[in-house]
Formats: sequence, structure tokens, C-alpha cells
Amino acid sequence: MTEIAERTAPTSAELGRVSHWIGGRIVEGASGRRGPVYDPATGRQAKWVDFGSSEEVDAAVASAAAAFPAWRATSLSRRTEIMFRIRNLVDQRRREIAAILTAEHGKVPSDALGEVARGLENLEFACGIPHLMKGGFSEQVSTGIDVYQIRQPLGVVAGITPFNFPAMVPMWMFANAIACGNTFVLKPSEKDPSASIFIAQLLAEAGVPEGVFNVVHGDKVAVDRILEHPEIKAVSFVGSTPIAKYIYETGTRAGKRVQALGGAKNHMIVLPDADIDMAADAAVSAAYGSAGERCMAVSVVVAVGDVADPLVSAIKQRLPKITVGPGADPASEMGPLVTREHRDKVAAYIGKAADAGADLVADGREHPLADDDGFFLGVSLIDRVTPEMESYQHEIFGPVLEVVRVKTYDEAVKLINDNLYGNGTAIFTRDGGAARQFQFEVEAGMVGINVPIPVPVAYYSFGGWKNSLFGDLHMYGPEGIQFYTRAKLVTSRWPDPGTSKVDLGFPRTR
Ligand code: NAD
Repeated sequence: MTEIAERTAPTSAELGRVSHWIGGRIVEGASGRRGPVYDPATGRQAKWVDFGSSEEVDAAVASAAAAFPAWRATSLSRRTEIMFRIRNLVDQRRREIAAILTAEHGKVPSDALGEVARGLENLEFACGIPHLMKGGFSEQVSTGIDVYQIRQPLGVVAGITPFNFPAMVPMWMFANAIACGNTFVLKPSEKDPSASIFIAQLLAEAGVPEGVFNVVHGDKVAVDRILEHPEIKAVSFVGSTPIAKYIYETGTRAGKRVQALGGAKNHMIVLPDADIDMAADAAVSAAYGSAGERCMAVSVVVAVGDVADPLVSAIKQRLPKITVGPGADPASEMGPLVTREHRDKVAAYIGKAADAGADLVADGREHPLADDDGFFLGVSLIDRVTPEMESYQHEIFGPVLEVVRVKTYDEAVKLINDNLYGNGTAIFTRDGGAARQFQFEVEAGMVGINVPIPVPVAYYSFGGWKNSLFGDLHMYGPEGIQFYTRAKLVTSRWPDPGTSKVDLGFPRTR
């Protein structure tokens, strides 16, 4: 978590300030606590972000609670119209959003635009809300009696989001949440908070009423208040596994509905019959895109049998062609890591793997930019990694690809199924039978067959298994609608008053 700088710390006049968004306007933080926001490409602090107090969370929740009755009563067709307008504004302003992402997260513009595009898909899905909120109806379940189910919004719901997708992950949550008629409080990552405020302003421009969407920045103080606030009915979380577990346990203990998505260690199996060039292209793209700071990044290639030598060699050949540099340079394909602290943590894992006897085929610490003030690291390829090594056991979340060599397909699947994480996984093969067997028995929530990053489209739902997700429902798509609504079952009769009589027997259908 970002270190909190004291109010007394020297401030330079040019540093911008990122404040909260409560009740349809910017509200400057009054807690006296704040944190630095860096430009990862230069390593310089660019802004301060206000850290919310419990009282500031309470103010956002009060604003959301006040907006809820009118928003849930707003007709579906009006809510749909507003969702379409949000969709169009995000589409029109996608370059500006992407530029904010590059400035604070460090990802290169093509990747930032890709993030906005995938977020946009969730807004498009939510534009279908009249269809998605349809219930069911059974006529004449008994004489003159009909039964129907309706889905209703929960009330005030909250989202707590990670640094690696500061625009897309909030859209995973709020698009469906507000389309369903809930009001929303977002606690974005304190590392790259500006996109959330830009998006809040677009929502206001689209006609989202005051209080329907609020943003409170901050750290554990704000998160803990969200988890205990009695008015918040549900919490969606995306971030690392220890925090996801904490959010799930604390939130559910307080009686909330919680979906908490955690970290990952995504394995890509390459079978001996795979097309080596295709597998190497996929591994390189999926491991180093966004500097490996993707929860669906491939971090482990499992090379089966004699595919290992040619595969490692094909991956190695591709590495010198990856241009690392700032997002401002159009030639850059991979930007810096998000903070110096994170860069150093990733670099330490590379050292640990080497110390444990793995083979450092490419060492990102040797990249010329690794000594720069920006938070850069080159790409690393580590061969002959074994499951006991610390670098294998933890999520590294950087541009580091590890190769585990195994003899058989069964060994490869066992490796994945024994892993504590179960977010995404992939298999590269030309054998349809092997692919089908893999799909059948692998223990992970999202599976790619010759597809390295199988992120579901917005009309399915996203979520891992095991320590990659705590809760029952996956995020966005149909399960997102389920998460943000509750079912009400109505049994109805319009009797002829002339037939009415007292009957103390148990209600019968026959
Ligand atoms: P993080 O867990 O450090 O932070 C996520 C959120 O939790 C932030 O808003 C942060 O302010 C808050 N937080 C951090 N520490 C807290 C604490 N002690 N108490 C309460 N709240 C706290 O995660 P991150 O570093 O921002 O993001 C990277 C992680 O997110 C990786 O582990 C990655 O795999 C994971 N991730 C998972 C998915 C997924 O869909 N499963 C998607 C994206 C990212």
C-alpha cells in the first residue's frame, strides 16, 4: 500500500490534486491524509491524492443512499438511455482516458486504449438492461393464481479496485450496478486515481443524477469503513489475494454480499505437437504485455516433453525485439512498472529464482532503463523453474516469464491443479482430444485453447477459482446482474369476492 505522506511534507505548487467525487461534484478531502501519485515513466511525483476518512466515506454513502429511491424508480427506458449516453461519451473520450492511464499507470497507449475498449464492452452489455432485468412468470400455478419473479436492485453498493486496470475494472462493476438501479461508491486504487474522476464527470454529463455514482479515494481507512457501513449492501473487490480474502471475510461478517477477485499465477501448457512459433508469440505477448501487470498474464509456461528446448529458444529470440520505454514514445511496446517499490519487488524475485538454481535466460534487471529514474525493468525469461522455488510460489506481477519443464501432459495438469491460484490457464496444442480433456479436468475459472489470455467477453462473466476468487458469483456479464439484484417472488390472486372464504389449511396447488 502506498506510504502516506504527512500534510507537513513539502508540496510543490505544480503538483495536481485528486479529490473525491460525492453528490455529483468534486469534494476536496479534509482528512489531512493523502498519498503521492507518480508518473512511472519519470519516477517523479505528479499529483497528490486525498485519502478519505470514515466521515468522508459516510458522506459518499449518505449521498448514494439519498439518490437510491429516485434512481431505482427511474424507468428502465430512461436508465437505458443514460447507459447509452455513458457508452457514447466513453467511446468519444477514449483517447483522453487512455492518456490518463498512461500518465499514472505507465502502460503504453495501445494497451491503455485496449483497456478502455474492454471496459466499453461492459457499458454496452449494460445498455441491454431492460432485457437483463426480466424476471419469470408462471400463469395459473393454482386456480386463479399466478407466480412471478422480479429482480430488484440492492441499494448502495461499493467497488474497490486495483491499480492495474484503473478504468476497466471500475466499469466491470459500476456499469451493471447502476443499470440495475443501485447507487455506487467507488474506492479506486490510490496509485492511479485520476481516471475514476474523469469517468465520474462523464457519467454526470451523460445525465447520471447526483449521488448515483460517487468516488472516495484512499487506503485501508476508507476500505474498512466501506466494509462495516450498514447502508452498503454489497461489495465488489478486485486486487491481490490476501486483501481479497480480508474483504470477503470482513464484508460477509458484516452481512454484505461480497465478490472478491484475487491474484493469479496463470500457466500456459505447451504440448509437443504445438506450433512452436505460435506458442512462442502467444507466450511473449501474454507474459510481457502491460509489463506483466495483468491478472490474466501468462506467468508460467509449462513445457511438456521435448518441446522445451525449441520453445525456450523461440521465446528467447523474440525478446530483444520488445521495445521498453515511456508511453509518450510511440515506439514503446512495454512501459514501466507502477511504482519503484513494485519494480524492486519484481527484481528481487528474479534474483531469488537465480539463487535457487533456475536458469536466467534473460535478465530484465540488465536493461539500460532499469537504472533510470522511471520504474522500468526489462523482460526476464527464467528457465528450469521448479515448484518449490519462491518465485514460482508467489504472484510476481511483472515482466517475468518462468518455464517449468515436465515430462507428460498429466504432470502439467497436476502442476496447475496443485497451484493455489486458479484464475486463467491455457493449452497450446493441435490435438483436439487433449484440449478437450484439459478443458474438462483443469481447475481454473477461465481456460484458453490456443488463446493465451482468455478474458471472457462482457456477455459472459469473469472470475477465477481457488484463491483467485472469494464469493459465489463471478464479475460482470449475467452473474454481475445477479450479484447486483435480488429476486422477489410474487404469488398473486385476483379473486372474485363472491368466492372468498376462510381456509386455515396449508396453501395447496392441486
Ligand atoms: P491490492 O490488493 O494491493 O489493492 C487493491 C485495492 O485494495 C486498492 O484499492 C487498495 O487501496 C486496497 N487495499 C490495499 N491494501 C489494503 C488493505 N490492507 N486493507 C484494505 N484495502 C487495501 O492490489 P493492487 O496491487 O492494486 O493490484 C494488483 C493485484 O490485483 C494483483 O494481485 C492482481 O492479480 C490482482 N488483480 C486481479 C484481477 C482479477 O480479476 N482476479 C484483476 C486485476 C488485478
